[in-house]
Formats: sequence, structure tokens, C-alpha cells
Amino acid sequence: MSARLIDGHALAARLRAEIGERAARLAEQGHRPGLAVVLVGEDPASAVYVRNKVRACQEHGLHSVLEKYDATLSEAALLARIEALNADPDVHGILVQMPLPRHIDAHKVIAAIATHKDVDGFSVQSAGELASGLPGLRPCTPYGCMKLIESTGVPLRGRHAVVVGRSNTVGKPMALLLLQANATVTICHSATPDLGHFTRDADVVVAAVGRRNVVTADMVKRGAVIIDVGMNRNDEGKLCGDVDFAAVREALGPEGWLTPVPGGVGPMTVTMLLENTVQAALAQTADRR
Ligand code: NAP
Repeated sequence: MSARLIDGHALAARLRAEIGERAARLAEQGHRPGLAVVLVGEDPASAVYVRNKVRACQEHGLHSVLEKYDATLSEAALLARIEALNADPDVHGILVQMPLPRHIDAHKVIAAIATHKDVDGFSVQSAGELASGLPGLRPCTPYGCMKLIESTGVPLRGRHAVVVGRSNTVGKPMALLLLQANATVTICHSATPDLGHFTRDADVVVAAVGRRNVVTADMVKRGAVIIDVGMNRNDEGKLCGDVDFAAVREALGPEGWLTPVPGGVGPMTVTMLLENTVQAALAQTADRR
């Protein structure tokens, strides 16, 4: 018997239905949650991501503004746009699609977004709120991973969670969210000499590396929960994660849980962006409702 799959599509659909209802209630009170998505340049992958985000807003009753600019837009002009969006009461969340053209300092741009509108949760201020245990907007992918873990019913308190990867957007915030949920957390990275030594002891593993087969069957504990954030291509060009899926699913046994790629973490990321936008709208309109 092999591990159960955590269905990201099903969970995302359930959460999106609730988000749609909360957005509709806010809209009835004259505060439709609004997201501004800013795209600079012609990167084809970014164009697809942006389109998906705008479409998700439209499908769930959120107001969305798509601002598309030529790759030649100056840093000063982009910062001026962010200032205007910060001041716009119809915009509760601002997302600047990365990567930006080289002549624009992404750190400066992220820092310019008002913290209460930072629905990506990438700013130093938002990261500081998370690290300090203060309320705030959480980065969408790790936030979605927490929801996937929660959906298994496996409690995190006192469990050993291993995060593989330490990027500012996934690994580090993931580790902090697990810590906040009272897990005992280990963070592994490219300089970790024996990854299996840590993952074999883990009740929960979150793999966020971007390399196939980083987690193999001999590296997991029976009954563990494995969240595969990685997005890679296999030899046939098909999307796959960081986990050796079929063999790890067997090794986990019937008590274990595993997210598929695609269909696990992917659908949750945009869902949590909608969630953050609704949360931001609720916070920004609290005194006017
Ligand atoms: P990243 O910035 O490249 O970070 C990768 C991390 O993996 C780094 O911390 C790196 O360590 C570590 N690493 C590299 N090789 C390793 C190894 N052999 N053993 C252990 N750790 C190793 O990537 P990211 O932005 O965090 O994204 C990670 C993956 O998740 C990518 O495949 C990305 O496409 C995917 N992703 C998916 C979603 C989604 O919505 N599904 C969202 C975001 C990201 P060092 O720090 O030491 O270099």
C-alpha cells in the first residue's frame, strides 16, 4: 500500500469558494477586494503567471488591475506607479511580477510597496513580521504548503519538520511558519553534507530545491508527510518535482502523505494570493465597515 496523495486542486477549489464568498460580502459593503499586478517587460513565463493571477481574481469576484509596461520603463517611473497604487483605496494588494529588467533594483521596488498591501509577503518588513511572530501577510507558496499539511490532519506540534532549501521566498518563510506551528525545524541546503540523515528522521519534509530526485525512497520515514514544491522537467519534458515520486510514495506506506507535481503545491500559490488580498482588504477597510 502506498501513501495517500494530497490533492492541491481539490483543496484550492474549496478555499477559493470560501474566498469568493468573503470577497462578495466585502463587495456588498462597498469594499470589493482589489489586486494590482504590475508586469514590466516581455518575459513569456511572467506573462502566463500574471494572466493566471488576474483570471483567478476575476473568477472569484476580486477587482484586478493589470499594469503592463515596456522593458524600458525606468526605475523612477516604476517607483512612482507603486506610490500611486499605495495611495489608491480600491487597491488592497500590490504584486510586482519578478524578474524585473536588470536596470531596475527589485529590492528597492519591493521595499516601496506599502507593507499592508504586500500580498506576496516578500518585503523585508513582511519577513520581519513573520520572523517576529507578528501578524502580517505571509508568502503565498509556503502559506499554501501549510494549508496542504493542515489538510492531512497530521498535527505539527512537537514533530520534526525538515525544509530542504533556504530561499527568501520559499525555504526560509516555510521554516518560520512550521516553527510558529510548534514543529521542531531543521533547514537543509546545498552545503548540507548528508541530507538523508535529516530527512529520514523527519515527520514532515518540504522540498523546495528545483532539482529532480533530491529526495529518494531511502531518505524518507514511513508515515511521513512530504510536500514537493519543486518544479522541474523530466527526460520526457514533463513537469516533475524534487521528489522521486513513485518510489517515495511506496516507501511512505499507507500512513504517509505526498503532494503530486503537478496538482499539489502549484494550485495553492495563486489561491493564497487571493486569500492575502482578501485579508488585506479586510484589514484596510475594518474602520469603514
Ligand atoms: P532557489 O531560490 O533556487 O533555492 C533553492 C534552494 O535549494 C537553495 O536554498 C539551495 O541551497 C538549495 N539546494 C540546492 N541544491 C541542493 C541540494 N542538492 N540539497 C539541498 N538543498 C539544495 O529556488 P526557490 O525559488 O526556493 O524554488 C525552489 C523550487 O520550488 C523551484 O523548483 C521552483 O520552481 C519551485 N517553486 C514552485 C512554486 C509553486 O507555486 N509550485 C513556487 C515557488 C517556487 P543554497 O541556498 O545553499 O544555494
